[in-house]
Amino acid sequence: MSGAQPLSLSVRNIHIMGSQTSAILQNNNLLIHKIIMVLLLTCTLESNTDDLLPSSNHYSSVPLSLMQLPFDGHLSFHNLHFAAQDFGGLFSSLPLAVLYPRSVSDISLAVSHVFQLGPSSDLKVAARGHGHSLQGQAQAPGGLIISMESLQKPKMRVFTGKTPFVEVPGGELWINILHETLKYGLAPSSWTDYLHLTVGGTLSNGGISGQAFRHGPQINNVYQLEVVTGKGEVFTCSEKQNSDLFHGVLGGLGQFGIITSARISLEPAAKKVKWIRVLYHDFSSFSKDQEQLISLEGAFDYIEGFVMVNRTGLLNNWRSSFNPKDPVQASQFNSEGKTLYCLELAKYFDPDVDEPVDGEIERLLGNLGYISSTLFMSEVSLLEFLDRVHVSELKLRESGLWEVPHPWLNLLVPKSEIDDFAREVFGNILTGNSNGPILIYPVNKSKWNRQTSLVTPREDIFYLVAFLSSAMPFSTEKDGLEQILARNQNIMDYCKAKLPGTNQYLPQYNKQEDWEAHYGSRWEVFMRRKLKYDPLAILSPGQRIFRNKIQVT
Ligand code: FAD
Repeated sequence: MSGAQPLSLSVRNIHIMGSQTSAILQNNNLLIHKIIMVLLLTCTLESNTDDLLPSSNHYSSVPLSLMQLPFDGHLSFHNLHFAAQDFGGLFSSLPLAVLYPRSVSDISLAVSHVFQLGPSSDLKVAARGHGHSLQGQAQAPGGLIISMESLQKPKMRVFTGKTPFVEVPGGELWINILHETLKYGLAPSSWTDYLHLTVGGTLSNGGISGQAFRHGPQINNVYQLEVVTGKGEVFTCSEKQNSDLFHGVLGGLGQFGIITSARISLEPAAKKVKWIRVLYHDFSSFSKDQEQLISLEGAFDYIEGFVMVNRTGLLNNWRSSFNPKDPVQASQFNSEGKTLYCLELAKYFDPDVDEPVDGEIERLLGNLGYISSTLFMSEVSLLEFLDRVHVSELKLRESGLWEVPHPWLNLLVPKSEIDDFAREVFGNILTGNSNGPILIYPVNKSKWNRQTSLVTPREDIFYLVAFLSSAMPFSTEKDGLEQILARNQNIMDYCKAKLPGTNQYLPQYNKQEDWEAHYGSRWEVFMRRKLKYDPLAILSPGQRIFRNKIQVT
């Protein structure tokens, strides 16, 4: 199916009668479990554009009982279009209503009510964070959207002490968390590149950035969660308490519960950041240096990298934020027509306390094989560094290029497959500018908690490769939507055929067997958790994993 095709879901019910289902739930009967799995697996996706618009009996399809629930917040049937949009701009399905919760009990009340409507109801519920999904993952066609940003409880609170943490509501934006924690000289240690995303949204996926090689992704930096399950029950969970739910929800694509609050670990915040960029001609020395750097304890605090194909005036563009070490040589460097690899590093420091870091940085850079004329550096505050993508957002918004379709593709490629990947993808499949950044950097899995729902390659070192393209409306050239989607498909086809250890991050699949392949040996655990925490498959239908439901009596 073309990713540009608007999609809605049609549910084919599977009815398993009451006595069998209680047996599943009570006795954990393996055989019946397997039957249910087979039934769930046989479901199909049907595209039905009629569901995209509210039907003439729009209001009558909302259960009257839902409208009568005593919410602290409110349920709205107006201005629903925002909930049918996301950053990807590829999928759009209107919900029936949006709940603006003011308390956790609003969320619990709504979900338990939908659960009690039973298997004959098609009503689904999606928590919506900041709507920065790529393929309708936070949408609920004809269902109920819960706008998590309106949940302002618990009030954000920083706990200082030996193991500091911040407690935040599930719909809080990371940028607000940074502002608040900096007041205490503290900050979370693991980030995403862009901070205008919600805690619930990134913890449902993973949250990976240049700090993940050392601290693991954001889902590994959480002490405790409060979660409303697909039955409407409210649980506190952590490594020690309700740990199955805790691990399931982290990276769980919203399938097992709605995160209503989180306790996120903090570390002392750096005052300043040395932010460095250097270029490489060839992929193998670039990746060799990246891998060496992530293995060094205490060298850099952030390590990323990106690929640039045929970019004109590349180094001149950097000059607005970075200073070249050798301005004369840098001005003579020509990037046109070349495929170049940029290593991006950051070193955090406190000028009042630490020894000057320049010498140490020079020593570390001295061991690397980059093109010497391309060393650029700048010194910024931690806030400026972490919120760097927002600066680009403002510029893109100004020129009308933020709200265009974003056919992004994110992959996790094991170290043993990365050379083949680079050779084929950067050498053959990508034949020009990708109209957006292509990130590529390794992480060290030994720093990651393996019990969460996030699927990663088996090897200890793997690379995040992110094709972050923007599609130009109406273009039929390489920067047009169809062309970019075709290129993404080529990359995925190549990976499927030749690189069996590669996984999608922020996965997007339309077929049940692809989801099963994605989870591999962990599919059974995923299914067990689904049966336990959301047996009617009410939550986050926009992920398109479970279309059907099990009748529970
Ligand atoms: P939404 O899009 O609103 O929701 C995402 C999914 O989570 C949906 O299925 C939704 O139902 C579910 N959900 C939302 N809130 C909750 C909740 N409280 N409880 C349970 N489920 C919930 N990701 C990275 O890892 N690293 C990056 O560096 C990175 N950079 C990005 C930069 C940009 C510009 C964008 C647009 C995205 C980036 N992402 C990155 C991807 C991002 O992490 C995901 O798209 C994330 O889902 C967006 O968060 P959101 O708050 O907008 O979530």
